[in-house]
Amino acid sequence: MNEMPEIDHSLALTTVRRKRARVSRSWKQTMNCFGDLKFLILGAGINGLSCAMRLSEQYPRSCIEIVSEHFSPNTTSDVAAGLWEPYLLGDTAQQLVKKWSRDTYQYFHEMWKAGYADECGISLIPYLALSSENQSGDDEFFWKDFVFGFSELSETRLMQFRAEHGMRYCSGAEFVTFTCEPTKLLQFYTRTLRSRGTVFRQETIGELLRFISENASFSNVIVINCLGLGSRELLNDDAVRSCRGQVRRVHAPWMFHVLISAAGYVIPNTESVTLGGTKQTGDCELEVRSEDTLGIHDGCTGLTRALDRAPVIADLVGLRPTRTAVRLEIEHVQAEHSTNLVPIIHNYGHGGSGITLAWGCAGDVLALVQDLLDHSQLHQRYRRRKSKL
Ligand SMILES: Cc1cc2nc3c(=O)[nH]c(=O)nc-3n(C[C@H](O)[C@H](O)[C@H](O)COP(=O)(O)OP(=O)(O)OC[C@H]3O[C@@H](n4cnc5c(N)ncnc54)[C@H](O)[C@@H]3O)c2cc1C
Repeated sequence: MNEMPEIDHSLALTTVRRKRARVSRSWKQTMNCFGDLKFLILGAGINGLSCAMRLSEQYPRSCIEIVSEHFSPNTTSDVAAGLWEPYLLGDTAQQLVKKWSRDTYQYFHEMWKAGYADECGISLIPYLALSSENQSGDDEFFWKDFVFGFSELSETRLMQFRAEHGMRYCSGAEFVTFTCEPTKLLQFYTRTLRSRGTVFRQETIGELLRFISENASFSNVIVINCLGLGSRELLNDDAVRSCRGQVRRVHAPWMFHVLISAAGYVIPNTESVTLGGTKQTGDCELEVRSEDTLGIHDGCTGLTRALDRAPVIADLVGLRPTRTAVRLEIEHVQAEHSTNLVPIIHNYGHGGSGITLAWGCAGDVLALVQDLLDHSQLHQRYRRRKSKL
C-alpha cells in the first residue's frame, strides 16, 4: 500500500509548543495528511456523486476530482425511476443489500425531515406491489423489518385488485417508501460539491491502467471506480452485463402512490411519473422501441386507467449495470513506469438499485478509505519510531 505523505515537524518550536505538538501529533498528522490527500472519482452517476459527497464531508481539506464521460442529466442514473426498492442485484449477499439499502432509506428520511425534499426531489410515498405468484413467506421482501408499515395484502384486498385490474393476483404487499427524482438529487449533489471545491473533468477513459498511471501514480491519490457499465470494458469484467430499461415519463401530478405488478409499474416523482418498463438482459440498444412504448402504455393504463390521458414528457432508455454481485472492494494496481501501487476502490454493478444503495455503498467506500489511512499512519509512526532506535 502507498504511504501518505510525511509530515514536516522540523519547524522551530519552543519547548512548550513542542510538548503540545507531541500530544496532538496524531491529530496534526491526520489533518496534514488529509490536506494533501486526493480522491480521483471515476464516473458521475449516483454512485460517483454519493461517494464525492460523503468523502468531502469526512475529509473537507482533501482534493476531490470527478472524471467522467457524461454528467447529469446524461447518465443512466438520470433515467432511473428513483424508487427505493432493492431490485436486480444478482447474488449480492442479502446482509449487504440490507445494510446499504437501510442506510440509504434512513438518509432519504433524514433529508426529507431536514427540509431538502423539494431541492432533492425526495417524496415519502405509499407503495403497493401485486404478484401473480405466491410470494408470502419467501425472501422477496427480506428488508421488510426496517421500512415503514410493511404488511402483506389480505385476501379481501387481493380480490378487489383482481376485479379492478383483471389479473390473477396471488399475493401482494404494501409499505411506505421514498422516491427521489434522480436528476434533482444529482444536480443538488453537483451544486454542493462545486461549493466545496470539487473539480469536474469531462473525459472518456479509454484504457484504465494508462489513465491511472497518468493521473494517480502519486502516493497521495486514492481512486474510486464508479464507472457503472463502463467497468465491463475498462476492467474486462464479464460479470457485468447491461439490462436495458425503457420507461415513459408522464405528467400526472395527481398520482400519489407507487404501483407495481407484472403488467408494469407506476412510480411518481416530484416532477413526473415514471411508467415502466422493460428489463432486457444483455440488450445494449439505446433507441426507444415502439413495441416497448406500446407495452408500457397498455400495462400501466391497465393498472390506472386515468394514465391514458396523462401528457407524455419523454420516452427514455437506460442500461442498468447488472452484475453477478455488486463489487465493492479495494484493489492495488501497479502504475506503469512507477514502483507505486495505486489503491483503487471499486464500487459498481448496482443493477436496478443504484438509487436504493448509493448512499449506503458510499459509506462502505468511506470505511475502506479510513482503513487505508489508518494503516498508512500506523505505518508512518512505525517508521519514525524505528528510525529513532
Ligand atoms: C429504466 C431504469 C429504471 C431504473 N429505476 C431505478 C429505480 O427506480 N431505483 C433504483 O435504485 N435504481 C434504478 N435503476 C438503476 C440505476 O439507474 C442504476 O443502478 C444506477 O444508475 C447505477 O449508477 P452508477 O453511478 O453506478 O452508474 P451510472 O449512472 O451509469 O454512471 C456511470 C458513470 O460512469 C461514466 N463512465 C462510464 N464509462 C466511462 C468511461 N469509459 N470514461 C469516463 N466515464 C465513463 C458515465 O459517463 C457515468 O457518468 C434504473 C435503471 C434504469 C435503466
